[in-house]
Amino acid sequence: MTKSIKVKNPATGQLIQEVRKNTEEEINQALKRGHESFQSWSKVNAHERARLLKNWSLKIQENKEVIAETMTLESGKPIQESLGEVDYATSYIDWYAEEAKRLYGRTIPAASETKRIMVSRQPVGLVAAITPWNFPAAMMTRKAAPALAAGCTFVVKPAEETPLTTMKLVELAYEAGIPSDVLQCVNGIGSEVGSLFTDSEFVRKITFTGSTPVGKLLIKNSADTVKHVSMELGGHAPMIIAEDADIDFAVEQTVASKFRNAGQTCICVNRVLVHESIAEEYAEKLTEKVRALKVGNGLEKDTQVGPVINEKGFEKIVSQVNDAIEKGAEVLHGNEYDANRDEGYFFVHPTVLNNVDSDMKIMQEETFGPIIPISTFKEIDEAIAIANGTPYGLAAYFFTNNYKTGTYLHEQLDFGILGWNDGAPSAAHAPFGGMKESGLGREGGSEGIDPYLETKYLSIGNL
Ligand code: ADP
Repeated sequence: MTKSIKVKNPATGQLIQEVRKNTEEEINQALKRGHESFQSWSKVNAHERARLLKNWSLKIQENKEVIAETMTLESGKPIQESLGEVDYATSYIDWYAEEAKRLYGRTIPAASETKRIMVSRQPVGLVAAITPWNFPAAMMTRKAAPALAAGCTFVVKPAEETPLTTMKLVELAYEAGIPSDVLQCVNGIGSEVGSLFTDSEFVRKITFTGSTPVGKLLIKNSADTVKHVSMELGGHAPMIIAEDADIDFAVEQTVASKFRNAGQTCICVNRVLVHESIAEEYAEKLTEKVRALKVGNGLEKDTQVGPVINEKGFEKIVSQVNDAIEKGAEVLHGNEYDANRDEGYFFVHPTVLNNVDSDMKIMQEETFGPIIPISTFKEIDEAIAIANGTPYGLAAYFFTNNYKTGTYLHEQLDFGILGWNDGAPSAAHAPFGGMKESGLGREGGSEGIDPYLETKYLSIGNL
């Protein structure tokens, strides 16, 4: 067994740094410390917790450039996006620093003159988080910030591909005054650390962002000790473009939604369903925009699409594209690759596929790559049936200027996040999360702190 994790640059395959894997004993000790420090941290008053969180956010902003560069180096995402992610990550810290002060309880009128009823909320305890490589900063802060704001202590295991950004954020938290036992980072292989987290009696909550199969496993393994669980899992986002939509705007938003992080986000549009009367114009305009995208190393300032994370991700994308072409899809642009297995880098050029239908894998599975499959519909109910015909229910988009169509789609689509004429709905102040096999719980907004709180009900009698 190797004792370290090799962190590589997905744009070149070159080694950036070796990170020591924590031993089983070290991880169990970290959980014990997290559990013990809960006693003191949960008693720190909410205004002080808010102050420390704000300090943390400031420290991150002061180090924005170096964090963004680290993120681009280990994840491959274009530097402009990494800079944007640092802002996005701190927006969660800022939001929950404020929410810490609003953990209100309530009183309930009793059914007896001699009783009083009060409801209060208290932190769940030690939280263990497992985060993915596609947003190494924001997926960590949107869990850590509400947890710490609520009074929980926190241990995170970042993805093996991208531990460096998280380690830097944790270091800055210590500089900001957050105690070292309250927020900890451990490194290791997902399945090994995952079992230590779920088996531990000290951990009261598991919060995870990643694939649906791993999420299901974590839910199962959390059952023995009845832990709280929050799951942000896979998506398969449809984008419905109605006949009255503003086509130019829909094209612009498709590109913005699809190519962020080379299509490796769980809410990026995975399948376009466009009304047959405007399909040709939409496809033409879209292809023109896609053709102009610059692919390259994320460190170069004008890069818009970086490499995909690794060979496994690359193979999945290629197999979906090949399957679609074999079954009759037409390539309007792309289907080009710049990959080197020996060196270890994998670039997928933005690709537009037309005449796609529901038998193709790309219409059934999450792609996690810069591919846009286009399919057409006649009636809006047909589009809704295709959109909902998946076990996933994370994000869906629709473009229409008809308020009746928009309202109908809002009510009919089984997805936790809807963008109506909006391809970029994520925000720290709004609840993010999925229905069906896309997850449990919400992150962001006033809802995002609830999963870190227990409700305690007090009934006072004999008054
Ligand atoms: P991906 O295939 O996109 O990397 P994963 O769901 O495998 O998605 O990874 C997301 C996170 O889950 C990473 O931090 C990874 O280390 C972790 N992980 C992977 N397998 C397991 C597992 N069996 N138990 C717990 N965590 C896991």
